[in-house]
Amino acid sequence: MRREIISQVKSLVIKIGTSILSTNSTIDRLKIERLVEGINFLLEREFRVCLVSSGAISSGMSMLGLRTRPKVLPQLQATAAVGQRYLMDLYADAFQKYNRIVAQILLTQEDLKDRRRYLNIRNTISALWERRIVPIINENDTVAVEEIKFGDNDRLSALVASLLNIDLLVILSDVDGFIVEERVLSQIGEITPELETWACGTEKKEICIGGMYSKLEAVKICFRAGIPCILANGNRPGIWEKIIKGEEIGTLFLPSKKKLTSRKQWMLFNLKPKGKIYIDRGAREAILNKGKSLLSVGIVKIEGDFSEADLVSVFDTEGKKEIAQGISHYSAEELNKIKGLKTSEIEKVLGYKYYDEVIHRDNLVLL
Ligand code: GLU
Repeated sequence: MRREIISQVKSLVIKIGTSILSTNSTIDRLKIERLVEGINFLLEREFRVCLVSSGAISSGMSMLGLRTRPKVLPQLQATAAVGQRYLMDLYADAFQKYNRIVAQILLTQEDLKDRRRYLNIRNTISALWERRIVPIINENDTVAVEEIKFGDNDRLSALVASLLNIDLLVILSDVDGFIVEERVLSQIGEITPELETWACGTEKKEICIGGMYSKLEAVKICFRAGIPCILANGNRPGIWEKIIKGEEIGTLFLPSKKKLTSRKQWMLFNLKPKGKIYIDRGAREAILNKGKSLLSVGIVKIEGDFSEADLVSVFDTEGKKEIAQGISHYSAEELNKIKGLKTSEIEKVLGYKYYDEVIHRDNLVLL
């Protein structure tokens, strides 16, 4: 199974955690050189590679001689600003040995929310690949504030993998894979609640950020995007040879067979629902089991103040469960006027009708 999946791989996103770039919290040039040697091994074999690298803050701390990570946001962002430049120098020097050029791309969540920017990023990376340049992405730590942060680079790497429709995401850290009872699981087909408990121990979710919990969150994105994901220890020598031969190394997470379309991936992974639409049993049946669009007639209640073209959650009134998310053609205000009405009555009530459907099925993701 692993060999079969890996034999199809032509492009990779590689997430590089700070732990494998540094020693005792100080950025380590030698480690970067070793890592780049491995990545060059892939590039020589014509793989298309995009890196998502952490390490800006750690590099900044090294440059500024800080022993502890600044706690105040502007100080932390200033450290990242210094460190990002230094980190890129180290990458550029290391790739220079193989006559390769690197490019820096710094992103915030806002960039991925905007569909045009999203598509632009994809085009830019394609252009870089055409010129055999290695894109290195990080979060734009200097401008990102809490509300617009990706949370961590694990998540960012999965979003980039989805954006690029990549063949494989490899998350490198200093652990050997997904470990249960001191044993690395070689393959995982589904993220069960039990696995999530293992990932986080008994700790609360917030405390597990950057650890295995956030890696699983990244894997979940890949799952729905139809992208296999390998979790491996980046400190182990010769990992790339094993990975591309499909040998047992780290943990391979298999993707879902039902891959979401690229547009639906963008919606589900990058937008936040601005409101809720509650629907009746008939509408629930139509969207869940018949692949239909959501019409005004099936809408019972609206919550939140959303505009036309915003992402909304669709709730089933009976189960009180979120069953889908989708982009609404009408605002909350308009829907409050047309809920429960037949499509043919929309124009009479609003004075216009942009669309027959409230959420077209192409813009609707079932959860
Ligand atoms: N963007 C941060 C940095 O470069 C790291 C965030 C993370 O590792 O999740 O230091």
